[in-house]
Formats: sequence, structure tokens, C-alpha cells
Amino acid sequence: MNRLTNDLIERLRALLGADHLSVALAERELHARDQSAHPPHLPDVVLWPTTAQQVADVLRLANDARVPVTPWGVGTSLEGNCVAVRGGILLSLARMNQILRVHADDFQVTVQPGIPYKDMNAELAKYGLFFAPDPGANATIGGMLANNAAGIRTVKYGASKDNVLRMQVALADGRLIHVGSRSVKQSSGYDLLHVFVGSEGTLGVITEATLKLTPIPAYMSAVVASFPSVEKAVEAVVAIRGSGLDPAALEFIDEAHARMLNHEEGVDLGEQPVLFMEFHAAYEETLRLGLEAVQQICDELGASRFRATTDNAERKKLWHARHHSYEIMVRLHPNDKIYIMDVAVPISVYPALIACAREALAAENVKGYMIGHAGDGNVHVELLHHDADSYQRAMAVNRAIVTRAIELGGTATGEHGVGLGKRPYMAQEHGAALDVMRALKHTLDPNGILNPGKIFPE
Ligand SMILES: Cc1cc2nc3c(=O)[nH]c(=O)nc-3n(C[C@H](O)[C@H](O)[C@H](O)COP(=O)(O)OP(=O)(O)OC[C@H]3O[C@@H](n4cnc5c(N)ncnc54)[C@H](O)[C@@H]3O)c2cc1C
Repeated sequence: MNRLTNDLIERLRALLGADHLSVALAERELHARDQSAHPPHLPDVVLWPTTAQQVADVLRLANDARVPVTPWGVGTSLEGNCVAVRGGILLSLARMNQILRVHADDFQVTVQPGIPYKDMNAELAKYGLFFAPDPGANATIGGMLANNAAGIRTVKYGASKDNVLRMQVALADGRLIHVGSRSVKQSSGYDLLHVFVGSEGTLGVITEATLKLTPIPAYMSAVVASFPSVEKAVEAVVAIRGSGLDPAALEFIDEAHARMLNHEEGVDLGEQPVLFMEFHAAYEETLRLGLEAVQQICDELGASRFRATTDNAERKKLWHARHHSYEIMVRLHPNDKIYIMDVAVPISVYPALIACAREALAAENVKGYMIGHAGDGNVHVELLHHDADSYQRAMAVNRAIVTRAIELGGTATGEHGVGLGKRPYMAQEHGAALDVMRALKHTLDPNGILNPGKIFPE
């Protein structure tokens, strides 16, 4: 890998125009870190291309000069995924943020990669449609596809990978290709679309995407139920999913989290594991009948508190505490940093994973809160740390939980991606398949210019 030369900077400036390139320290600092505790790293230059052809041309120049290129959406990653650890070019897609076409009758939209999904959904609401994956932070479509982001609605609508049909991708050598098709059914050759989804900008840069959309549901209900144990809460998750009620969200918080929300939000959750649920339907009566069935399941499993509503305002109130839990935690711990770790397991072993997390937190004397997309077997342990020693102990907890998740048949990351933080676990999780991933990387990016230092262990 080579350093960026003045000559290359001038060629990039000529390609993009002076307003679309910056070597100013302030801009480089703004693009040096994501939202995680991973250390920042300054890129040498920040670029803002406005067309797919410009992206391809930047890659061709960088490839010829062997200079690293790290794509950037809006920097909300949680594993250092978009940090330019080898310096070089930081390629921000922020100015490629247009909706190119709404195919309303096909329930599809074609967009540029830098559009934040909440902004896109605000526009799509005019058509009664929305893009379902919902990571919470206002991430870009390119960043969501590159990380295969998921979130609270995945249990019903799937992750980013399930909601994309076709993409345009710029390859390291400057070729622009299309992968996938606007047809919902696709059986034509290798599934290259899903090779690029989740590749974290290491195989190509997404320059356009056609996404699957979902009609905005006419009616929604919310349920909050507290359980005497994690096991009972998980039994409820399995029973509710097994009943065919098809929840649109099925979220878990542990006792520590419930205690925090009781205190800060004045909600009466008890100091117990809690499930937050949401259901969507075309008819109000369907929802009401569904809620009766959910209550019966929760009662049978010994739920100590159960609240349900089909009223929109009340639904938002019930979910308010869950939606704001991260902000509340940050506010409550002004002297701490929070490491949000992410693993996922088959739902039947969720209690075993939570037990492992509890043991590790106690053994290392680390304060942590557990929150998860339980419907998908996904858990986040939010680890508090404030100095080098507490960071090391938090990392020991992280290691114990990730290792256990893989042993239990799960994965080192359910939705945040590998980035920097999960690289040490890739061999344990993938074995010989990691060599196949390396071969794929070498085929598509033989000079290793695209987001170097990510996914693969050193
Ligand atoms: C408070 C908070 C809560 C979160 N909750 C969730 C959650 O519930 N579920 C979840 O899944 N995530 C969650 N996230 C993580 C984050 O929002 C996602 O990982 C998101 O996908 C990152 O998108 P971004 O636009 O910020 O991309 P960035 O962070 O800028 O980049 C993400 C990755 O994609 C690459 N990339 C960006 N654009 C492109 C492109 N056009 N082509 C190729 N590669 C590209 C980057 O190089 C990087 O590897 C949360 C984050 C925060 C801060």
C-alpha cells in the first residue's frame, strides 16, 4: 500500500471538482471514527463523489496507485467498520443521496447509496410504503447494505439482505457492474448481490440499490410484558412465534435495564426481564384477537405485568422507554463509555447465552445492561468502562460472550458486522470457509485497496 501523493490528490481534484475533496484537518477528524470505542484514524483526504462513474474513476486511480479507499455512509457503525485504519482516501457517499425512482406498483424504490433510510422513508410515506429494516440510528442505505444491518423489525420483515433486489457496484479496478435484478424471484447464476451485501466495503462500493418496500400497516398494536425469569421470557418468545401471530418486533431487556427505565421513565416494568412487542395488521379486529392470544400465552407463562394497546398514541408511549433506552443510559453514566457488543444464537439457547453474559459480568466486575432483538436470538450487552483497566475487563467479558455464542451454534455478530472488533473470532466461526472468503477478496480486490484491515484477522 502506498501513501497518497500530491500528484494523485491533484488528479482526484480534477476528477471531482475542488468542492468535493478536502485535506483539511477538521474534515479528516470528522471522518476518523465511528460510534464505537475503537480508536480513531485520520484519512489523508476526504472525497464526496456525486455520480457512480466518479466513484468508479476514483477506484481506478486509487487501484493504479495502490492507495487505500474506505467507503463511508454516515459513520454510525459500532465495530470500527468505516475507520480508515490504513489512511488514504475516505470515500463519503453523503452527496449521492437521491431517490432515483419509486416503482410504487412493484413495491420498490431505486436510490443512491448515501440516502439516510429515515429520510427515504419520510418520502416513501407519500406512497403508503416503507423500507422495513430499522437499525435506529439514521444510517445510509449503502452503510446498511454493506453491514447487512437489521434492527427491531427483522423478526417479521427480515434484515437488509432480505430487502434488496438489485445493486450497482463499482469494483476496485474501476468497472461498474449490476448485480441482482428487479424481479423478486431470481435464479440466474451465482448470487453476486448477496456477496456484496455484508461485505463492509471490502469488495466493492455500492453506487445504487433497488430495495423491496412494504405497505405501511393500517393498524399496529404494542405489548409490554414482564416475566419472572429469562427462561420464561424466552418460552413466551417461542410460543408467540409458534402461534403464527407474526410479531413485527419482539425485544428483550434484562432486569438491570428494566430497573433503569422504571427509575428514569416512571414506567412500571418491575425488576424483571421484559418483552416489548409490536404487531401489524390490515384490520383492527385481527389485532384485537391477536392480543387476546398473546395475553393468554404470557399469563400461562407467569407474566407479572402485561399491558397492551391498539391505540396509536398509547403504543408510542409504551415503546418510548425502549426506544430511548440508549440515550437514557448515556445520560445516566456521564463518566463512562459504552461498548455495545453484538452476538446472535438460535433462540432455544438464548437463556444459556444470557447466563454466560451474567457470569462474565460478575467475574470481571463490569457493569452491563442487556438488550436484544430476542425474536431473532440477537443480544447486545452494553458494557460500561471508564479507564484502561475497566476497558480491558469489558473486553474480557466481550470475549467470553462471543466465544460462547459461537460454541452455541450462533455467530460473532448478528447485525453490526465484523469491522475491527470481531476479526479475532472469524477463524473460530468460519474455519476453512474463511480461506474461501480470502480468495474472493483477492479475486475482486487483488491489491487490497478496499477498506483494508477489516474482516480478516491480521
Ligand atoms: C445508537 C445506535 C444504535 C444502533 N442500532 C443498530 C441496530 O439495532 N441494528 C443494526 O443493524 N445496527 C445498529 N447500529 C449500527 C449502524 O447504524 C449500522 O451498522 C449501519 O448499517 C451503519 O450505516 P452507516 O450509514 O452509518 O454506515 P458507515 O458506518 O459509514 O459504514 C458502514 C460500513 O459500510 C461501508 N460502506 C458505507 N457505504 C458504503 C457503500 N456505498 N458501498 C460499500 N460500502 C459502504 C463502510 O466502509 C463500513 O464498512 C446502531 C448504531 C448506533 C449508533
